[in-house]
Parts: sequence; structure tokens; C-alpha cells
Amino acid sequence: MPLKSIQANCPAWLCEGEKGKLIKAVGKGIHQMTRRLYYEDQYLKSFEAVVVDLLEFPDTLGLVLDKTAFYPEGGGQPADTGVIEARKFQFKVSWVKEEGEDVIHLGSMEGKISPGDIVRGVIDWDRRYKLMRMHTAAHLLETAVEKVVGSARVWGSGINVDHARLDFKARISSEQLPEIEEEINKLVKMDVPVIARFVDKVEAEEIMRKYGFELGREYLQLEKLRLVEVEGIRVDPCGGTHVSRTGEIGEVKLLGRKSKGAGITRIRFTVVP
Ligand SMILES: [Zn+2]
Repeated sequence: MPLKSIQANCPAWLCEGEKGKLIKAVGKGIHQMTRRLYYEDQYLKSFEAVVVDLLEFPDTLGLVLDKTAFYPEGGGQPADTGVIEARKFQFKVSWVKEEGEDVIHLGSMEGKISPGDIVRGVIDWDRRYKLMRMHTAAHLLETAVEKVVGSARVWGSGINVDHARLDFKARISSEQLPEIEEEINKLVKMDVPVIARFVDKVEAEEIMRKYGFELGREYLQLEKLRLVEVEGIRVDPCGGTHVSRTGEIGEVKLLGRKSKGAGITRIRFTVVP
């Protein structure tokens, strides 16, 4: 697809307004869909790929490859960082963005590169693995909160390396936090498999129903969607990267709660070590 700008949730320092406007594309600007290696193997740390395009934005460069293990920002999970290199070439990846079917690595480079060249990408694994643990913990927190306070819809979420937050449409008191923390750590210690896969809509509805959930209206248009199933505990439509067993999360620590008004309570948490 042709590229004109980078938008949406890209950080303001990189992408806001004029900064997101494409100045130049070295390639033809028409690409095949980027193969998403992070969906084939969420534990892939490095990979080889072919350069498809090099894009120039006012304050940053964009590198498009035929495939990538770099996760683009989405679903509350921030983008991966890392490096993409070749002989006499290094591209520091500071953000990754989806634009239609392309995954665009944003950052700065040293050296030269052309479409057709082979490069090696290495993601900052410590950072990504922490994000995976945080993301799976976020899903489990919903179950733990429901257990303690009854029904509690998630209103919003944000996952970072050091801390994450979930906003619940529920009143949750600070007295309930220790109990919620105990519940979530029980689920972690059960060390059950976490299975992420693409399924068609009919199958998705069946699996969701098995867990007592309904497929949200926003998914009904889709033919296929990705489900993240924590075996025997819960299932969610989710595009993020997850650990493959809950035990990998380690230990969840709740950092606090805050009322956001209109019956919304924010819970902040982290995972240790
Ligand atoms: Zn998720």
C-alpha cells in the first residue's frame, strides 16, 4: 500500500502532525504485507529479512522489511525497540508502527541500505519479555478483580516496562487490593498454558462462549481474529505478545488504586523480578 504519513498512537515526539508526513520513499511505496514473525513465534529474538523500503519523515526514518519480529504498538502494548543491522549499516529502532499492512520500524541509521538488501534484526529482548509478562498479567488481573468485586468491565489499559494499569468500571477499595493480589498470584502459580492463535469468527464465538464471554461488537465485522486463551481461566481477543505459561509472569505486585470518577477505578501493578 502507498504510504503517506505515520499516525495514530505513535509518540508525539516522533509523529505528531507535520512530523508524521512522508517526505520520501526510496522504494516504490507499494509493498507486500509484512510477515508478522512475532505471531509465528512470540519468543523470536532475532531474524533475517529483506529491505523493502526506506522512508523519510521530518524527524525520523522508517524502515520496511519483508518480515519482522518487532512488535508494533497496539492493544495497550508499546512497540519493541532494538537494532536492525547489516555490514556497514545500523538502524536503531526506537518505535514500530503498523500502517495498513506494513510494519514500519522508526528510528535513526548509520551507513547505507537499499531495497533488496538483507538485514538482521535483534529486538531488545529483556524489555519485550517484561512486556509479555506484564501483558499476560493484565489479562489475569481482570479475572482476579472479578473474583473479588464481582462484575468489572475493563475500561482502558496501558502496559509499560515498569508498571501497567487497568481501568475497571467498578468500585474497588484499597482494602480489596490484598485479596485481588492474592487471587492473581494464585492464577500465576497454577502455571497454565497461554495459547494465542488466529481463529475464524464462528470458532471465536464458540470459544468465548465456553468461558462465558460474548464477542464484542467491534469484532463482529472481522472474519478472523486472534484469541489469547489462558487455559481454563479466560479468553480474550488480543493482538499482543504473551508468555506461554502463566508461571513465567513471576509475581504480580499491585502498586495502588485510584478513583477516576464515573465509577471507574484504576489499578496499577507490576511483575517481579
Ligand atoms: Zn491483551
